[in-house]
Amino acid sequence: MLLTITRRASLWPRRFTGGYKSLSTRTFTSRSSNSQQRTNTQAEVKLNRSTLHSEIPQHISSQSINLFNHGKSKSFDSQLGRTTGISASNSKQISIDIDGKVYDFSPLLLRDQCTCEKCLDPSSKQKNFLTVDIPAEIEATSVTKNGTGVRIQWGNDIPGFDATHVSNYEIGRLQSYTVNGMHKAPIKPPRRVLWEADTFSRNVEDIDYQMYMEDEAALHRALQQLHIYGLIFLVNVPDTAESVSRIAERIGPLKNTFYGFTWDVRSVPQAKNVAYTSKDLGFHMDLLYMHQPPHLQFLHCIRSSSLGGASLFTDSFRAVKDLHADDPRAFKQLVDHSVHFHYDHENHQYRRSRYVIELKDGNARFEELNTSTPGEESEIIDLIDAVAWSPPFQAPFSLPPRSVLTPSPQSTVGNSLQEWHSAATKFNDLIHRPGMIYDRLMGPGECVLFDNRRVLHARRAFEVGDAGKERWLRGAYVDKDPYESKMWVLQRKFGALDD
Ligand SMILES: [Zn+2]
Repeated sequence: MLLTITRRASLWPRRFTGGYKSLSTRTFTSRSSNSQQRTNTQAEVKLNRSTLHSEIPQHISSQSINLFNHGKSKSFDSQLGRTTGISASNSKQISIDIDGKVYDFSPLLLRDQCTCEKCLDPSSKQKNFLTVDIPAEIEATSVTKNGTGVRIQWGNDIPGFDATHVSNYEIGRLQSYTVNGMHKAPIKPPRRVLWEADTFSRNVEDIDYQMYMEDEAALHRALQQLHIYGLIFLVNVPDTAESVSRIAERIGPLKNTFYGFTWDVRSVPQAKNVAYTSKDLGFHMDLLYMHQPPHLQFLHCIRSSSLGGASLFTDSFRAVKDLHADDPRAFKQLVDHSVHFHYDHENHQYRRSRYVIELKDGNARFEELNTSTPGEESEIIDLIDAVAWSPPFQAPFSLPPRSVLTPSPQSTVGNSLQEWHSAATKFNDLIHRPGMIYDRLMGPGECVLFDNRRVLHARRAFEVGDAGKERWLRGAYVDKDPYESKMWVLQRKFGALDD
């Protein structure tokens, strides 16, 4: 089935979640070199001053693009999308032959990414000029192919750059544009695996603390597993208060919050109020009332002498997938209607609205999901960015924007909550299916690492007989940026686990 969208076209491989953002448009076009009827082999690379628009196929308008055929059609209208990106309407295109096809590159696009020492600081890798410094009339005065590269000299260059300025481009870099729309292939993380309790305990092995701390390849495997399942356990962790920060800092800097760099979960159930100190703590995620909730959470069990207080984990993405399959309307409710979270105390005032199901790239991806052929295109698992579920920190609902209160009996204040309530009830039932809950009584020497935006955690009540027995966990957080950075760096070195 074809998909037409009228918004920003996403031309990236659908599994891409790396840190690059689309320029929103292609900035080159191509045509078959056969149509050139060229006989001069020296003319492999030449300047093309013909206008570009005449080469854009008629079926691609500025309003729509056939997303699923983009691999076959190599011409793209630069006017697509909310931002215009770099216009491809420059009449001074640079034509380059790549594997028998001639692609017209925008001079702006190429000039902007010159990597010569004058343009790019060799040590800091920072650009030494502004894109807006490049004159709109920039043009190539000479383009020569040499071995695996292309050498370009410029006319109407940035003030301060004279005729001696030369830009060199690896063919692979230019080719990547024709394939990926960017100067290098996007990083593909390993594919996530949705789990239930059984499959998790069968497939995910505990990781030895010392290996994790000392062996980079072991750390790489741990982080890949953490991405794939959202949950891993370290064992043989020294029972000191500093262990959890050592484990977290192996990945990146600790996230500081008003709880501190690390924090303690200590419970000593007393006989007289055992019901209070030992009550079940339901499934939730931490700190959703913040703009940037922690991505990774670490909990190190330092002491546990009781039999109760087991930790429970469940894969919320699995519940999202099942909800989408069972009841697409309920799924859409949780995608479209936000919930407020807050932490409202005398000295702290945090507030944040979130959707229970957060999709990558917002609704454009949701439309893509709905219009794609099942099993062929988008999988829901590739579209979920995060889940927000933390009932203890939910704030009162507010009315939809611009809703007008009219006196009864015309309307009931808050009636719009009915559908959300029904959808949330279904989601809550899904995360509580017994087979989906991984239950582990963490003992001393164990540390759990989990994705706080995917894996829900909870604590089971203590037994009455546990009164007086201490349980001490120490926790820490790491943000998403340092975590992903570490994962990409190690993946570049060792490869993805599913390759
Ligand atoms: Zn340069």
